[in-house]
Amino acid sequence: MQYDYLIVGAGPFGSLFAYEATKRGKRCLVIDKRDHVAGNIYTENVEGINVHKYGAHIFHTSNKATWEYINQFAEFNHFVNAPVAVYNDELYNLPFNMNTFSKMWGIKTPAEAKRIIEEQIANAGVDEPRNLEEQAIRLVGKDIYEKLIKGYTEKQWGRPCTELPAFIIKRLPVRFTYNNNYFTDRYQGIPIGGYSQIIEKMLEGIEVRLSTDYFDFVKENPNIATKTLFTGPIDQFYKYCYGELEYRSLVFDTKILDEENFQGNAVVNYTAADVPYTRIIEHKHFEFGTQMKTVITYEYSADWTRDDEPYYPINDTRNNSLFLKYRELAASDPHIIFGGRLGGYKYYDMDKVIEAALGLVEKEFEESN
Ligand code: FAD
Ligand code: UDP
Repeated sequence: MQYDYLIVGAGPFGSLFAYEATKRGKRCLVIDKRDHVAGNIYTENVEGINVHKYGAHIFHTSNKATWEYINQFAEFNHFVNAPVAVYNDELYNLPFNMNTFSKMWGIKTPAEAKRIIEEQIANAGVDEPRNLEEQAIRLVGKDIYEKLIKGYTEKQWGRPCTELPAFIIKRLPVRFTYNNNYFTDRYQGIPIGGYSQIIEKMLEGIEVRLSTDYFDFVKENPNIATKTLFTGPIDQFYKYCYGELEYRSLVFDTKILDEENFQGNAVVNYTAADVPYTRIIEHKHFEFGTQMKTVITYEYSADWTRDDEPYYPINDTRNNSLFLKYRELAASDPHIIFGGRLGGYKYYDMDKVIEAALGLVEKEFEESN
């Protein structure tokens, strides 16, 4: 065998594993079907602005060890995610907090906001939420559901809220303080100089082959490595033998504008059903940019077919049990490891990817010592 590990996918999971394995004297080959490293966290410098090519990425964690780990590779700025939502000609702060409630109902105190929300919940008569619509109304009442959740969520997931699982919305923070910080984590920021350099540093000195699809590569190189770490879709690896897992895809439309400041914020969500995109990202605001030009990206949610990028796993009951069948199949082969967002079919943020990859490192190397 030429290599100890063939690592499929130069995203954060595969690259971190390659970095740690190489440090331990293992021979690694990393391949990626794209023509660049960094997976979905890839940033590209356009007009001096680091453009998040696959959607807005904000690093946040409460785990000090994870924060320190990523800080080996980059210095982070003090960006705080405070998105705003546009509904017709109205603009609201996110996440749902006292600024949102005050604008919505012209009130000032948490007690007033709670009273209105409780009234709306009682009027809706929802006790045990059975779907996303009912869960959302139970969380924030009818007004916020109708203006800020319904249209956005239906665009995002391509299905009516009454047919979506309640857990999707549980991730959205609701608070009765004047605090627009989307995340509650202790550490948050954007790497100065962009995300790609982090992955480039991890892969320094490691053999990487780009524009190389595993399924073609393996036909010509069937016995190249003792083990394979696969960070692409697990169902595709097994030729969909138990059926297809479902994903949501995205379409990004990026424009360079000859103006300094287009929307005054990094992330603006469009929550009305009749606006076709879900959000507009203005990349310079992630790094407090002062360039004369600006770069913006319209983000559209899209149905997924096998030819599209699978951005979001759809973790409903059907898909989760199908995934478990694939995972059982994987467990029977000691030469293959699955990891990352697609291999693990899990809605992992970057911090969780780091933790999972470090967990794999421990399993592969510490346990055997
Ligand atoms: P990926 O980054 O997807 O990398 C997988 C790589 O495998 C890709 O480069 C792909 O080309 C390659 N690959 C797949 N199949 C093959 C094959 N057959 N042959 C060769 N190569 C293959 N996280 C946060 O923490 N904060 C955020 O704000 C945030 N925002 C996000 C916004 C969007 C729109 C999306 C989609 C994700 C967001 N994330 C965010 C999550 C973040 O992108 C993931 O946690 C991270 O990219 C997962 O890393 P990964 O290595 O598992 O997978
Ligand atoms: N959401 C919403 N309105 C918004 C933003 C989010 O209703 O303005 C809902 C929507 O259902 C979405 C979920 O909250 O799927 C999680 O959104 P978030 O932006 O946190 O997740 P991301 O898409 O960035 O992973």
